[in-house]
Amino acid sequence: MIEIVSRERCITCDRCVEVCPRNVFDTGEDGVPVIARQSDCQTCFMCEAYCPADALFVAPLSHPVRPDSPLRDEAHLAATGLLGSYRSQLGWGSGRTPGAAVAVGPELPAAQPPIVNRTDITERTSR
Ligand code: SF4
Ligand code: SF4
Repeated sequence: MIEIVSRERCITCDRCVEVCPRNVFDTGEDGVPVIARQSDCQTCFMCEAYCPADALFVAPLSHPVRPDSPLRDEAHLAATGLLGSYRSQLGWGSGRTPGAAVAVGPELPAAQPPIVNRTDITERTSR
């Protein structure tokens, strides 16, 4: 669930408000989003992925963390690199390696897929 909006890092771009599929955020008077409906959060990480300032933290849990949890401690999350870390792992953001380049998965065949041009497709569909 969403736990932290860092007032220190937020650049008030409203991306998180726009991308959240559950309308969890309201835009605060000063432009910094507030977590208005935490119980509606579906832990999809979209807001953290899209935040250009690494200002959000979504805990990988389907319920809120305890008030004294380190996962609700912004200083701890910043010091441990967890604040905005989902976006970082995806490789989104300037200077980062795209996550797809380092993802672990099945080995792909070495052969390139055949190149199909428009003429081929037209000939095949007109037969
Ligand atoms: S994790 Fe998903 S549902 Fe929760 S606040 Fe972020 S975008 Fe909204
Ligand atoms: S996406 Fe990040 S920087 Fe933009 S308003 Fe939300 S918390 Fe602030």
